[in-house]
Amino acid sequence: MYFATLASGSSGNSIIVGEENRNFLVDCGITVKRLLDNLGMINLSALQIEGIIVTHEHSDHIKGVGALARRLKIPIYATYGLWDEMEKSLGALKPEQRVIIEEDVTLAGMHIQLVPTSHDSRESYGLKIAGRKHTLAIATDSGIVTPEMSTSLRGCDAYVVEANHDPEMLKRGKYPLYLKKRINSQYGHLSNFQLGEALAEWLLDNAQKVVLAHLSAENNTPQLALHTVINMLRKSEARHRCPQLKIRVAPRHVPHELIILEA
Ligand SMILES: [Zn+2]
Ligand SMILES: [Zn+2]
Repeated sequence: MYFATLASGSSGNSIIVGEENRNFLVDCGITVKRLLDNLGMINLSALQIEGIIVTHEHSDHIKGVGALARRLKIPIYATYGLWDEMEKSLGALKPEQRVIIEEDVTLAGMHIQLVPTSHDSRESYGLKIAGRKHTLAIATDSGIVTPEMSTSLRGCDAYVVEANHDPEMLKRGKYPLYLKKRINSQYGHLSNFQLGEALAEWLLDNAQKVVLAHLSAENNTPQLALHTVINMLRKSEARHRCPQLKIRVAPRHVPHELIILEA
């Protein structure tokens, strides 16, 4: 199993996940051109993308979904509630491109379980993706670690997870009060500390890679997110459980290099 973030943050999100040259995308919140350019940067072909699964209807996750599905002639996978919310903004689709999913789905040979997150959208989900040998957790855009996230995301081999903000930077920063409240609320975004605490619980001895994602450009820095999470893990039991773990930060506009999970 392999994966890479193609873009990450409020300016647009997309992640490619694959195994044995069968790939799918999680969200496409960037233009088709940028998506194709970014795929090219990590030498992946769009022709091997078999579908797009949507986590929630915010534009930083769906901006390019309709256009990309039309271009590649591939289906879009989303829950009924998300379809209801986003369908108009996706543009014309063929009936077979509109796939309604419930709790789980198999896509590109991998099993995907939806894990409800807590966010100010109609519905929102993290994903637990199981390939032949590995599992990958993807969870961004959540104000809290939900009970479903706590139980489902423990013990995965790799994680793409949200370290959105540093609470102190958010407090002192120039965002208007309503936006600060929204980000801090249980329907907003996870802070570096919230994520560090969750990872200390989730990471078991099989954990190989963590990619910190959806960082705020205003209220966080890659260095601070990394430093905070690593420090919290060093103080936790996870330090003993997974000494091989590598933690990286997803770049905002360009892809992260392809991460290949080892046997
Ligand atoms: Zn987002
Ligand atoms: Zn969102």
